[in-house]
Amino acid sequence: MSVKHILDEKGRQVFTMPPSSTLQDAARELADRKIGAVILTDDGGKIAGILSERDIVRMIARNGAKCLDQSISEVMTTKVVTCSESTTLDELMESMTKGRFRHIPVEERGRLVGVISIGDVVKKRIEEALQEAEQMRSYIAAG
Ligand code: AMP
Repeated sequence: MSVKHILDEKGRQVFTMPPSSTLQDAARELADRKIGAVILTDDGGKIAGILSERDIVRMIARNGAKCLDQSISEVMTTKVVTCSESTTLDELMESMTKGRFRHIPVEERGRLVGVISIGDVVKKRIEEALQEAEQMRSYIAAG
């Protein structure tokens, strides 16, 4: 099972914002779109960073609500771990566990082509486990 399978099902649309937007803008988009992170891209469409709800909460805890006027570029994570369409489910889980994050942008030839969240990974893992159990039941029933 690879990232390509997940994207074929969920689609390849990715919501992005420019890093010059404010944390207030980001918080509004995250809430409206019911997503946990936004990918920031430069004018050429290249990934410039990632900002998750955790980054916003951390800034509010540290500086209070006035931080919402700050630009995303001051807060975002710039060293972004990405994957490709050929990355496997196991590799995704390893990256997320090792990096302690729940989102991984998908890049192909330097272009952003999707994003995988931990929810997508868990959903696929459960589907796989159910399929394996069903195959085992059929195998046993066939004697
Ligand atoms: P998350 O678990 O995705 O809410 O993110 C937790 C922290 O990791 C935040 O500081 C994010 O900016 C950062 N982060 C999220 N995804 C990635 C990624 N793919 N590569 C690097 N850092 C990330």
